[in-house]
Amino acid sequence: PPQEERERGRPGAKAPANPLAMSVVMVGAECAPWSKTGGLGDVMQALPKALAARGHRLMVVAPLYKRYPEAVDTGVRLRLQVCGSETEVGFWHAQLDGVDYTFLDHPAFSHWADQIYGGSRQDVLYRCALLSKAALEAPRLLPGGEAGALGEGCLFVANDFHAALVPVYLQAHYRDHGQMLYARSLLVVHNLAHQGRGPPEELGMLDLPDDYYKLFSLRDAHSGSWMMNVLKAGAIASHRIVAVSNQYAQEVQTAEHGFGLDDTLRRQAWKLTGKPFLTAAPGLGAQLCTGVVNGIDTAEWSPAADVHLGSDGYRRYDAASLDAGKAACKAALQRELGLPVDPDAPLLGFIGRLDPQKGVDLIADNYEWLMEQGAQLVLLGSGREDLEAALREMEARAPRQCRAWVGFSVKLAHRMTAGVDLLLMPSRFEPCGLNQLYAMAYGTVPVVHAVGGLADTVQPFNPYEGTGTGWTFTGADPAAFRQALAFALQTYREHRDSFRDIQLRGMSQDLSWGAAAQQYEAVLLAAKYQW
Ligand code: ADP
Repeated sequence: PPQEERERGRPGAKAPANPLAMSVVMVGAECAPWSKTGGLGDVMQALPKALAARGHRLMVVAPLYKRYPEAVDTGVRLRLQVCGSETEVGFWHAQLDGVDYTFLDHPAFSHWADQIYGGSRQDVLYRCALLSKAALEAPRLLPGGEAGALGEGCLFVANDFHAALVPVYLQAHYRDHGQMLYARSLLVVHNLAHQGRGPPEELGMLDLPDDYYKLFSLRDAHSGSWMMNVLKAGAIASHRIVAVSNQYAQEVQTAEHGFGLDDTLRRQAWKLTGKPFLTAAPGLGAQLCTGVVNGIDTAEWSPAADVHLGSDGYRRYDAASLDAGKAACKAALQRELGLPVDPDAPLLGFIGRLDPQKGVDLIADNYEWLMEQGAQLVLLGSGREDLEAALREMEARAPRQCRAWVGFSVKLAHRMTAGVDLLLMPSRFEPCGLNQLYAMAYGTVPVVHAVGGLADTVQPFNPYEGTGTGWTFTGADPAAFRQALAFALQTYREHRDSFRDIQLRGMSQDLSWGAAAQQYEAVLLAAKYQW
């Protein structure tokens, strides 16, 4: 898109009067900075701001897991039937960056403050139903400031299976009864691995008419038995579906990456691949809108303004001060983590949830070899116990070359992104991936498995043409990964100018939310006017 168009979407830019302004309600189980376990939290934080900056009215609905300093009690209470029993939910509110944040106050959320996806399957299903039901009432119930309540004609953006009952309840409890006829819903698939599966008996918990049950039914590929599946129903009931990258939009329709929902998504493919609303998207032309890659919240992730740099030896930098800034951050990171301060040792990093998805085992498989190459390795992650143990073991085997930080530390994630030379993302699948975007913005070179958003966003280095922003490999295979690592290490050691050009190409990209928000706007308009 032309520069002017992209400027429009920058958070903080003055919101223009948008003749096609829409009222949008984003619903999700996490929203940074208040709650975050991964990329979904980041998107819930950044996309609403970027859409508001384009002149839309934005409400975010998320749980109040604990008291947030910015949020105040509106005094509004709603009695709801959730999973067969009556309960009351309170609405808290904060207004920031032109976005109305609505936080749902209920013991089912505060009880799980430290483990927001914890509890039994029924506990999780209860919270999904509660979040979705309260979110559908929020725009009608809350006063919404000077512009009045958002009202009935809004667009609900349901993120992942935790909010996937929004499209279903919107249809079953409102539209089927002649209410909210102008409202539309969009399902955003951030990660298809989690679908809200359960035995069919649990359908009875959802307070739906019997004829809705078939939307949830899916035969389990392994056992052959019928299961209920929340994401499947959300996909069928929603008006549009967005996958978080183009490649992922294709992959979810395949048996390899569809996690059993590929058939459903192939049948719903028109929702994933519909033409965007053309008048709203100059520059997108007739391009098919098959997925929208997340952006970076530049207020959070910018090496020139990062609040986590600027102390303890870390320095802020930009492209002009890349060499000195990055050298300072690398030395500070080595010092902070107790590794030898060595500017020439290639420093490799990994940041992520410890889940088989993220492919830490592929790092472990190449660990010996990396140590033999004289590389230093820093790993930050938390999650599955066996993988946490694998991290600790790597550190124990070479404590002067490897540091494993088991836990969740936003500060360390920022400092690592600035301090390491190479960021490793050997994910088995990666719907979008944010860390590679952060890395490139910080002049850190990603080495990634070419799947999903990683394939869309990291261009492989081509030494003959002098192009590319990182290294990619095909197939989640330790040998393929090692080969990419070998090229990366060789370039780092022997072709510093080429390595520096890769860093600068990464930094010069516009990875902000501006362009992504413009694409979301096009899909939202399509949902609103082309259905
Ligand atoms: P996913 O959504 O699958 O977890 P993404 O790459 O989209 O993966 O986003 C991950 C986000 O979570 C990034 O902001 C990353 O920095 C953050 N993150 C993941 N693990 C940790 C951790 N242990 N400590 C701090 N931040 C983390």
